Amino acid sequence: MSILKSRVVGSVLALGLAACANGMEEDAAMDGQATSAIPAVDAETSKVLRENPLLAEWQGPYGGVPAFDRMQLGQIQQAMEAGMAAELVEIEAIASNPAAPTFENVIVAMQRTGEPLGRASTYYGIWSSNLSSPEFRVIQNELAPKLAAHSTKIIQNEQLYERIKAVYEQREELDLTPEEQRLLQTTYEQFFLSGADLDAAGKARYAAINEELAQLHTQFSNNLLADEEGWATRFTEEQAEGLPASYLAASKVEGEDGVYEVKNTRSSMDPFLTYADDRALREEVWRKYYNRGNNADEHDNNEIIARILQLRNERIQLLGYDTYADWQLTNRMAKTPAAATELMETVWAKAVERAEEEVADMQKLADAEGAGITIEPWDYRYYMEKVRQDRYELDSDEIKQYLQLDKLREAMFFVAGEFFGFGFAPVTDGSIPVFHEDVKVWQVLDKASGDHIGYWYLDPFARAGKRSGAWATSYRSHSTFDGKEYVLASNNSNFVEPPPGEPVLISLDDAETFFHEFGHALHYLSSNVVYPGSNGGVRDYTEFHSQLLERWVLTEEVIDNYLTHVETGEPMPDELVQKIRRAGTFMQGFDTVEFLGSAIMDMRYHTLTGERLANLDVQAFEAAELAALGMPEEIPMRHRSTQFGHIFSSEGYAAGYYGYLWADVLTSDAAEVFEEAPGGYYDKDVAERIVRLLYAPRNAVDPAEAYREFRGRDATSDALLRDRGFAPPKE
Ligand SMILES: [Zn+2]
Repeated sequence: MSILKSRVVGSVLALGLAACANGMEEDAAMDGQATSAIPAVDAETSKVLRENPLLAEWQGPYGGVPAFDRMQLGQIQQAMEAGMAAELVEIEAIASNPAAPTFENVIVAMQRTGEPLGRASTYYGIWSSNLSSPEFRVIQNELAPKLAAHSTKIIQNEQLYERIKAVYEQREELDLTPEEQRLLQTTYEQFFLSGADLDAAGKARYAAINEELAQLHTQFSNNLLADEEGWATRFTEEQAEGLPASYLAASKVEGEDGVYEVKNTRSSMDPFLTYADDRALREEVWRKYYNRGNNADEHDNNEIIARILQLRNERIQLLGYDTYADWQLTNRMAKTPAAATELMETVWAKAVERAEEEVADMQKLADAEGAGITIEPWDYRYYMEKVRQDRYELDSDEIKQYLQLDKLREAMFFVAGEFFGFGFAPVTDGSIPVFHEDVKVWQVLDKASGDHIGYWYLDPFARAGKRSGAWATSYRSHSTFDGKEYVLASNNSNFVEPPPGEPVLISLDDAETFFHEFGHALHYLSSNVVYPGSNGGVRDYTEFHSQLLERWVLTEEVIDNYLTHVETGEPMPDELVQKIRRAGTFMQGFDTVEFLGSAIMDMRYHTLTGERLANLDVQAFEAAELAALGMPEEIPMRHRSTQFGHIFSSEGYAAGYYGYLWADVLTSDAAEVFEEAPGGYYDKDVAERIVRLLYAPRNAVDPAEAYREFRGRDATSDALLRDRGFAPPKE
C-alpha cells in the first residue's frame, strides 16, 4: 500500500516526509509492481487507470523505470485521484473478505495495494521537489488535504482494523518468519497508535483534536514566518565594518544607496553575528531573532504552544498512554523517553563544560584586545570566529581547490565498491528516461557476480523550482515477495552549475553532505527485505546510515586518489588535512549546547502532565527548566520555544528532536569499529557485517537488536564524546 507503506513505522500522525538534517530521507518509497490487476472501480476511474500515462506500468529493463521523459503536469491530478480511488477499492476488498483473517489475506494483501497510486506519486514527488511551478502548487494545495483524508479513511476502516487485530492476536500461533512477525507488529501498531482501536466517541474526539491541532500548527508557522518577514534590521555603510563583501552585496536594500538589511532568518543572522564589529547592532539583531513568536503581539506563539501540548496530551490519553513522548517513542529505537533523556543528560554535562572553556577563550581574546566587555550571547559567534582564525588559520577557499564534484562522485563509487561491493556503470545510451537534462543515471551492479541491483539517478544542480538543500529518495524499493523488485534510488543537490567544461568546486561541508545523502541511497540499494513494508525508516535510526558514510571523505584512500588539486592534480597535502582534523572539534561546545537545549526542552514539554500542563506558562517554564539545567547564559536554545517549528509546526519531530543525537551516537560508536579493525575504514570483515546486520535488513529487524548483534552491546556515548572533543582521544 503505497501511501501507508512509506511510513508503516512511526505514527501516522508524523505524516509525510521523514526529513533529515539535509533534506528528506524517506519520502514515498514506491513499488512499481508490474502485475497488478485493475480492481473493480467505477467506470470513469477504470478508464483513467487504463489511459492515464502516469498510472501506466513502467516499461524498460529490470521491471521498468518511470517514464520521466513523457510526464505532463495536466495528467497528475486525475492520476492521483484515480490512484486513491483504486486503492480504497483494494482496501475494501481486504476488509470485507468473508474468509477468516490470515497473515496472507490481510497483511500480505495490504502489501499489494496502491500500486497505481505509487506510480503516480513518483511523478508527483518529482514535481514537488525537483520541478515545482506555480501551476503545480495549485494542484498540490488541492491534493494535500485529499491525500491526508485518504490515509485517514484507510486507518479508520473498522473492518480492516478488526482483521489486522485478529491476525495480530494469533501471532504466537502463526508460523511466521521474523520479518513477517515484525511487519505484523508494525502494521498493527500503526493503526493502534493512530486511534483505530477507539470506540465511536473516542474516534470522534480523536479526529476533532487532530483538526484543531492542524489549525494550531499552521498558525504557529504563520506567526513565525510573519516575524521573520516583518522584522529586518537596517544598517548603513558605517555600521558595516567587519562584514564580508559577499554578505554586503547580498544585503543591499534596493534603490537606497549605502543601506543594507539583516533579515530575521538564521541564514542572514548567523553571518552577521559572526562578522559585524558593531556590538550594539549585533545585540539588536540577536534580540529580534531570538524573540520571534514572543513579542506579546498578534503573532505571539506562547498560548498556541500551551494549547498544542494540552491537545496532544489529551489525544494520547485516549489511547491509554501516560505522556505524549511515551506514545511517540513506542516504535523508535530509543523506545522510551527515559532512554533518550539519559543520553541527552550524559552529553549535556560534558558539552556545558566545553562551552565554558570556549567562553573563557573568547573572554581572554576580548581582554587582550582591550574590548572592555563581558561575553554576551550576541558576542559568541563573533569572538568564536576570532579564536578560529587565531588558532586554526583554515582557508576554506584553499580547501575547495581539492574538492571537485566529479572526483567526489568517483570517490563515492570507490567507497561503495569497497564497502558494499557495488559497481557503477554510467547509462549513456538514453535507455533510462530522465526528467531534466542535468539528471544522469548509473546502473548499480554487484561487483562480484555482475548481477543487476538497481539504478542510481543524480540530479546535481540548482534550478528554479527545485527545493533547496540536498536529499535522497527512492522511486522503487526492494522486495521479493511477488518476484524481485529492483531499487531505483536518487540523490539530489543544489550545486551551482559551472560553464561547460569547467569543474564544480565545493566546500568540505558540501562534500560531507554529498556523501551523507549517498549513504541514504546505499541504504535503499542494499535492502534485502521480502516485503516492501519492511523498507520504512525509523526516525532516530535512519540518519545513522547516512552519517556513517561521511566518515570516508577524509580517509587516506580517498584523499590520495580523489581529493586532488584542480590545477596541479596533486593530492591534498597532509598539512592541510591535519589542520582540518584539528579544527574538527572547534565550537562543539556551542553547537552541542544549543542543540541539546532544544532537544531536552522538547522532551520536557512532551512529558508534561496534569496541573503543570493545564497551567503551563511557556516563558516561565522555559526559563525555569533551562536554569535548572544550568544552561550557560551566553548560549540560547538553537530553537527557542516560540520558534521551534520542528515540534510545533507539525508533529514531525515532536518528542523526536533528540533523534539527531541518537543517530550520531550510533555513528561514532560504529565508526570506532572500523577505526580499530586491521583494515581500518576499508576492513572487509567489518564492512560485510555492518552491511548484513545494519543496512540490508532496513526495518525488518528491530534496530536496537540489530545493533546489539553487530556490536555485541548497546551503543554508548563514549565515542561521540571523544569525537566532539569532550573526552580525550582513545590511546
Ligand atoms: Zn540524512
